[in-house]
Amino acid sequence: MHYYGDVYRPPSEAYSLIIQVTLGCSSNTCTFCSMYRNKPFRIRGEAEIFRDLEECRAAIPRVDRIFLADGDALVLKTESLVRILDRIAALFPECERVGIYATPKDVIRKSPEDLELLREKGVRIAYIGAESGSDTVLRDVQKGATRAEIIEAIRKTEDAGIATSATFIVGLAGPEGSEDHARASGSLISEAEPSYAALLTLHSEPPAPLYYDIQSGKFRRLTVAQSLAETRLILENINVTKDCVFRTNHASNYLALGGTLPQDKPRLLRQLLRAETEGFAPRPYHRGL
Ligand code: SF4
Repeated sequence: MHYYGDVYRPPSEAYSLIIQVTLGCSSNTCTFCSMYRNKPFRIRGEAEIFRDLEECRAAIPRVDRIFLADGDALVLKTESLVRILDRIAALFPECERVGIYATPKDVIRKSPEDLELLREKGVRIAYIGAESGSDTVLRDVQKGATRAEIIEAIRKTEDAGIATSATFIVGLAGPEGSEDHARASGSLISEAEPSYAALLTLHSEPPAPLYYDIQSGKFRRLTVAQSLAETRLILENINVTKDCVFRTNHASNYLALGGTLPQDKPRLLRQLLRAETEGFAPRPYHRGL
């Protein structure tokens, strides 16, 4: 079994078997992201991937979930993904779901039939980094996708029967762009209706370009109070008609919240307001900050 470089996965894939089918990220342009800056993008050979799967099968008695890494494994051609998924099904008949990272453009390039086939072959959840619902913010951070494309990608994936988990970054527009970012992100979730919406808090590391803008003072991070207020404004602007699991449980967030919208929205807003007015204990990641 061979892992190349640092490997990232969503929090909900913590107990999944991670298989790298691509290395790095095919776009690698987002100014806030340092994850794959030093890892040139490439597609791994199928023979090597199959060897990894076989070694894992021999070593691990039970595998409930598999996550296909790296940054946007959905960039692979559908035929190639199908061959990998068929091998997974043959080797791990007990596996209940396969998860994958996808960029909006990866999804848009696939036909509805491609996505339905991937669902049939085991893909049950796609993690899509939306980051913001504001075209201004998306352009500034060089996301490589517009608001309309992100909405199209989420809807197309959900329509194919694959759940989407869309992530947004609190603080991505700094204090000046906070209101636009929050309102637009909330309304994007309302329009696209992903099965899961998750918030992270901006934390940029070298060599991400935004890290150097923060160090030089060109970009200002939100304070804890501003981050909570932005989170509240995002939540206030989410009006979904089907269940959407809303979470702020990523380690980068100051306050961990979780519930299902729309029914839990009043409770989540109350929890946020209480934290803003009465204070709260910082999570381990933020102790000492
Ligand atoms: S945020 Fe996602 S799409 Fe952007 S560079 Fe990082 S891995 Fe690639």
